[in-house]
Order: sequence, then structure tokens, then C-alpha cells
Amino acid sequence: MDSRLVQDSQMAVKKSTDIFDKCFRFDKAKTLISHGLYPYFRVIESAQDPEIIMNGRKMIMVGSNNYLGLTSHPKVKEAAIEAIKKYGTGCAGSRFLNGTLDIHVKLEEKLASFIRKESALIFSTGFQVNLGVISALVGKDDVVIIDKMDHASIIDGCRLSFGEVKKFKHNDMSDLERLLTEYEDKDKLIVVDGVFSMEGDIANLPEIVALAKKYGARIMVDDAHGIGVLGKTGRGTAEHFGLEDEVDLIMGTYSKSLASIGGFISGSADTIHYIKHLARSLIFSASPPPASVASVSAALEIIENEPERREMLWKNTRKMFKGLKDLGFEVGPSQTPIIPIVVGEDEKAFIMAMMLQEEGVFANVVVSPAVPNGRALIRTSYMATHTDEHLDIVLKAFEKVGRKIGIIG
Ligand code: PMP
Repeated sequence: MDSRLVQDSQMAVKKSTDIFDKCFRFDKAKTLISHGLYPYFRVIESAQDPEIIMNGRKMIMVGSNNYLGLTSHPKVKEAAIEAIKKYGTGCAGSRFLNGTLDIHVKLEEKLASFIRKESALIFSTGFQVNLGVISALVGKDDVVIIDKMDHASIIDGCRLSFGEVKKFKHNDMSDLERLLTEYEDKDKLIVVDGVFSMEGDIANLPEIVALAKKYGARIMVDDAHGIGVLGKTGRGTAEHFGLEDEVDLIMGTYSKSLASIGGFISGSADTIHYIKHLARSLIFSASPPPASVASVSAALEIIENEPERREMLWKNTRKMFKGLKDLGFEVGPSQTPIIPIVVGEDEKAFIMAMMLQEEGVFANVVVSPAVPNGRALIRTSYMATHTDEHLDIVLKAFEKVGRKIGIIG
């Protein structure tokens, strides 16, 4: 057969259909919806407070990352309103061109001083921070080494980089050392979550720092769930371990303790200056809106001035750890206000979430690939503003539902 014919026959086999076919075939979510077991995109008709309204009904929220309860703090709301009055609702452009306001620069100075680094740079979402920073820093001859359980935005940042991406087993320091040895002669960046977002455990920063020093790697910590929560003064995972000077880059989002939407990276002045001119998700995307910038600025002041909020958060966290464990639930390795309840099979977790909803409790479901297969979770997370009464209702609901589906005795 001549080569033309071979090509023609291959083309015939590969004949295109419709790129949307996969959408027409996608029925996973539809099946859950038809069984009344779909726990995603639930519509809330109120603020992210300990009590929310869903379908006109009051529920207790244990699925929010509003750890310090600051999205409803009067000073935070007032700051946002005042910023809208002065600057309007949007910046209509990127930080790089027309979108840098004086309040962006002031917030960067405030964040740098809060994190105790030379400089900070703010982005419009935390996700964009990880995309922009990792892809800017990791070039084609470099290696980025990440924990298997790192957040999706870190993984996507690595995908956008031109370097090699290597994953080590979750919080497994000998596996990290294996990779560091293998890539000893390359420039290396280690990126870990400070607090892992699904199971609430903390990165083994002391050993990561020691290994990074030994093998000449730089460290970036995504502290989305650590800032405002961990450390003596709420500065996050590095402060928790007394390692603020040893971590090169600290990333944070505003979508958790900082009561808004957006994110930042902080580090040495030269590194931030470089990122500022290379991070595409910063340069080619509009800057954070004034209301968000002002909310974060107010939230930082409250974190400094109202340490009792963090104490309340930890009091609530301790109560729920004890309460859930005493009931017989397996709560996994968490050390933070993210408390997962290990359920096992995905279907059981979907059923459990819906039963909890029936009991007036909003909790999240986590299934693979966010967790390993067969380790589906109900992910709960707590706020400084939950009262004992709220938490007692939650524990009662968990007890009733846990017994009914047979994961506690
Ligand atoms: N990193 C971690 C660990 C997160 O949990 C999240 C948010 N779920 C992000 C990054 C992304 O942050 P944002 O919501 O601000 O885009």
C-alpha cells in the first residue's frame, strides 16, 4: 500500500465525532442528582456564618473556611463599603498597567510586615498566586518537588512551568530526601501546603527545612489554611514551628481567615520583584477589587488586635475533636480546625452528607481524587464564632447519622 493510502485509512479510523460528546456522556453528577445525593453547588441564602439559611431553613455551617468569622465583622464590612465609595467596584485592568491603587501597595506593605518578609505581592485569587509564582520560578532546567496531597493550584502551577515536576509521598521525609538526592545537581523548589486542606494535618516543616538546607533547595509554603489559625500570633505554619526565617516564600489566600477573595506571595525583595515581572496570572489578569483589598487590610488588624478570636477557634476545635472521637468517629491525622470524618466508600459519604443536611447540618463531602480511593471523607471545619450550642447540635446530628449508616457503634 502506498503511504498516501495508509494515511487515508488512518484518517478514516480517526474520523472526528464531536468534541462535546464527552459532555453528553458525562452522567456521574446526573446520577447523584437523580438519587437526591448531590452535595455540590448547594445554594446558600445568607452570609458564611455559623448559622446559614438554605431553602429558607436555618442550618449549622461546618463546611466553611471562614475560620475567624471575619466575613461578617462590622469593621471588615465597613472597610469594604468605604473602599467602594472611594474607588468604585473594580479596577478595570491589571496590576501591571492601570490596576494598581494606593491601597494595593499599602496592603502589600502590611502583608509583608505581618508575614515578616521584605516584600509581598497581591493577586486576584490564591489559585492565581500558585499558578503565577511556580510557573515564573521553575524554568526548563529546574525541578519542582511537591507533596502528593498539595492543593490543585500548586499542581496546576507546576504543569504550567517548563521544569520537571516530582511528587513525594504525603509528608514522607525519606521520600522527599530520595528526590532531593536524585536531583542534587539541579536548582530545586519544594512546595508544600502548610496545612493540608482536606485532612487538616500540618507539613513537617522542621524536617523539610533541614533537608532543603542539606540539598540546597528553596521552600515555598502555601499557608491558605494556616494564616490566622496557627502560630502564637496567627502568622501561620512557619510561626507555629518558629521557622519564619527559614521558609523562603509564604503564600496566602484571602478566602479563608482573611475574609475575602484574593491572595499573596511574600519573600525577599528581589524574588518578589522578579515574580512581579514574570507571573502571567498577575500580569494578564485584573487586579483585586477595592472592597476586597480593604476587607483584607481590616481583617489583618483584627487578627493582630483580637487574639481572643483565635483562642475561641481553638477552643471550638478541641471540643469537636474530643466530641467526635468520643462518639467513635475516625478523625484522621488532623491537627487543625479542619476535622475530617473518615467514611470509606464514596456513596456512603454522599448519603451521610445528605442525612446531615436533613438534620440541619451543612458539611462537605470529599471523594477521590482529592483523597485516595476508599477514603471518602466528610470534611468539617470550624469557626471562632460557633457557640457551644451550635457545636452540640452538630455532635448530636453526627451521632444520629453515624449510627444509622453504621460507621459508629
Ligand atoms: N491553596 C490552598 C491550600 C487552598 O485550600 C486554596 C483554596 N481552596 C487555594 C490555594 C486557592 O485559593 P483561592 O480560593 O484564593 O483561589
